[in-house]
Amino acid sequence: MANHLFDLVRARMPAAQSPFIVHRDAKALSYGDLEAMSARLAGVLVAAGVVPGDRVAVQVEKSANALMLYVACVRAGAVFLPLNAAYTLAELEYFIGDAEPALIVCDPSRQAGIVAIARGAAVETLDAGGEGSLMQRAQGMPDLFADAARGPDDLAAILYTSGTTGRSKGAMLSHDNLASNALTLVEFWRFSRSDVLLHALPIFHTHGLFVGTNVVLLAGASMLFLPKFDADEVMRLLPRATTMMGVPTFYVRLLDHAGLTREATAHMRLFVSGSAPLLADTHRDWSQRTGHAILERYGMTETNMNTSNPYDGDRVAGTVGPPLPGIAARITEPDTGAVLPAGEIGMIEVKGPNVFKGYWRNPEKTASEFRVDGFFITGDLGKIDEKGYVHIVGRGKDLIITGGYNVYPKEVESEIDALPGVVESAVIGLAHKDFGEAVTAVVVRAKGADLDDRAVMAALEGRLARFKQPKRVFIVDELPRNTMGKVQKNVLREMYAGVFV
Ligand code: AMP
Repeated sequence: MANHLFDLVRARMPAAQSPFIVHRDAKALSYGDLEAMSARLAGVLVAAGVVPGDRVAVQVEKSANALMLYVACVRAGAVFLPLNAAYTLAELEYFIGDAEPALIVCDPSRQAGIVAIARGAAVETLDAGGEGSLMQRAQGMPDLFADAARGPDDLAAILYTSGTTGRSKGAMLSHDNLASNALTLVEFWRFSRSDVLLHALPIFHTHGLFVGTNVVLLAGASMLFLPKFDADEVMRLLPRATTMMGVPTFYVRLLDHAGLTREATAHMRLFVSGSAPLLADTHRDWSQRTGHAILERYGMTETNMNTSNPYDGDRVAGTVGPPLPGIAARITEPDTGAVLPAGEIGMIEVKGPNVFKGYWRNPEKTASEFRVDGFFITGDLGKIDEKGYVHIVGRGKDLIITGGYNVYPKEVESEIDALPGVVESAVIGLAHKDFGEAVTAVVVRAKGADLDDRAVMAALEGRLARFKQPKRVFIVDELPRNTMGKVQKNVLREMYAGVFV
């Protein structure tokens, strides 16, 4: 029977003995192992009473078997629901109540707490080494499994958005959302069976789970599967890789590593960055050190990947490239939805087979995020230049309105970042009694640099209109970031709240 996503994986699968994971926590895994292990785990799901359409919530550390569980869910027709291992029990209670999973798989240390909030769901364990009650049950299961029938529009996964404002929402992703995007990326980034991806991203997030894993699966390629990012370990394994996908912090940390040289990366085919803005400086420094231009792309939980710098041709620092084939992007006036001409800043909207089916059990929120012609309102502000490249200037909710003027944080950050002695900066709006919001800069100073808040403010005079110049500058050692390397502006706004009132 047809299973849209797994049939595609199987159709493109290399011979059974071909490598799938060549380095991981325990031993290597072939494509034959992948088929057998995912079949056994799918058998466990069915035995636990999971039927097609049921959610399987998974809060575990990264392991190859956790990835096998994802594939097993696809084959059993279940909806894979990965959760950040850092979530507390109180947070889990919300996700469990919202998603009503039939089965929850968790770390053994969490089992007792989760059973108490499971609302009747079965609970199995899987530890950081990839062992636990789930794997014990799998031992008794057959290596063959009759895949559940699933069409293109049936759900394969629900990923909860990180929810920096309000409750996080479950983004419903169909078999074809995942399949179509992975196929596009395989072709666009020229993945083949001879590729070896260095995989150091978490697998509870779209980047490591879908971009990384699905691209490898649909290319019949293999991967070096690291439990987490570690610059020494990445440098040690790099000679065996052909490609790497990372968040910008990976590249920043590797640039600090003495082993990163042109010779050490000469054999690499591709470095991809996404999930957060890559500083133009990082792009330039990487190019100078290694001779490779990092390929930056743009996506989000709800849409998979939308745009990418080209494989051949100009990979322009500070841009995320044109829309991928089959995907449309446009810039609109946020309130009215009127389409804006090239070069003007507005809301980035996208449409294509990659865009999700809506928010789980939240039809009002879904309706408010789509235009009537089917474009999804991303919440990111940006522009499309004459060459068709998309530039992101920040999240809509980070836009600062000061004295009635709009200030795009990225514009101010770019000016500050260009100053000598500055590593990076984050510009936020803080409540101000006269202006509504006041532009405020939080600046990371380079080691040993002689720079203070007044010097930053003075340097910006004449470079930015007065209303865009920060009213206060705070010098810090580092910016708060989440696990995907995104600067947490909500944390900064809380830290400095009340400065102007
Ligand atoms: P998430 O849903 O966690 O993947 O976050 C998606 C958001 O990350 C997007 O809406 C953007 O705000 C941001 N993002 C992803 N890729 C990039 C990029 N290359 N440059 C700037 N921001 C990005």
